[in-house]
Amino acid sequence: MALNLALTSDQVKKAVETIKLNKPVYADMLDFYGRIFDAQELSKGRIQIQPLQISEEIRIVKAREKFPLIEIKEFLFDTVEAGRLFFVICNFAKEANPKLATDAAAILKAMDNVIKPRELFLGLLNGEDPLYEKISGELNIAETTLGFISYNSLKPSLLLCADQLSAYLNKEEPWLKGYCPICGSPPVLSILEDGGERSLICSFCWHSWSVQRVFCPYCENRDSKTQHYFYNEGEKEFRVDLCDGCKKYLKALDARETERMIYPPLEQISSLHLDYKAKEMGYESGIRLAMQV
Ligand SMILES: [Zn+2]
Ligand SMILES: [Zn+2]
Repeated sequence: MALNLALTSDQVKKAVETIKLNKPVYADMLDFYGRIFDAQELSKGRIQIQPLQISEEIRIVKAREKFPLIEIKEFLFDTVEAGRLFFVICNFAKEANPKLATDAAAILKAMDNVIKPRELFLGLLNGEDPLYEKISGELNIAETTLGFISYNSLKPSLLLCADQLSAYLNKEEPWLKGYCPICGSPPVLSILEDGGERSLICSFCWHSWSVQRVFCPYCENRDSKTQHYFYNEGEKEFRVDLCDGCKKYLKALDARETERMIYPPLEQISSLHLDYKAKEMGYESGIRLAMQV
């Protein structure tokens, strides 16, 4: 089944239900994430941002030097729409597991006082960890909760920005690097597509780009002798690529091994057992998982 980053709200719901049937252990978690994914897909249709402009001169230099098109701090977002999602996700979180629910209730209580969503969004894009530390300290909540809700509120804007910017990428010349050609972030997932081509999915803007089959994106290792993988019986669509060059792992989804609709954020969440297993084996994630989960 082909990779799809643009599912409708109904398709997302269906994809969530299919995974819940296959993996009942994730049911509660997927109820929560399913609501977030649905709200994000609906939000996409309402977002208004002006496309970022990149001059031809800059585009040529960036392509030649293999620099990403923008830095994370340059992403634009729809303040109203992201703010609305922030409120919506907090309310979903209030009905999730007890720790998340307590944190979300504290955030909602502090809205427009300690919590100003726009500041959080700008802080996230500018990598201002102290702002997150300060607020979570004041509210006595987990910093990861604040990061998670802020990131997921911004995500529809990030995806739209990335989609608009992808027009500047040269389709004739594959990027073949281990970081995203749009924003420079590391990949969260690897996908083997129907024809056997391999793409990586950006952990920040979810853009996908093609790379070689034997290639560790975290250290650019191309030596097959120092790369291997494991998979679970009964879950053959997934495997985990392990690199001994940098001791990092990357989950890979083989689209040829499954009939279900592939919605990468859902696949990422419903395969966290593989992250635990890879970590047990002594490998590290190449991304900051805290923001995603
Ligand atoms: Zn990206
Ligand atoms: Zn590596």
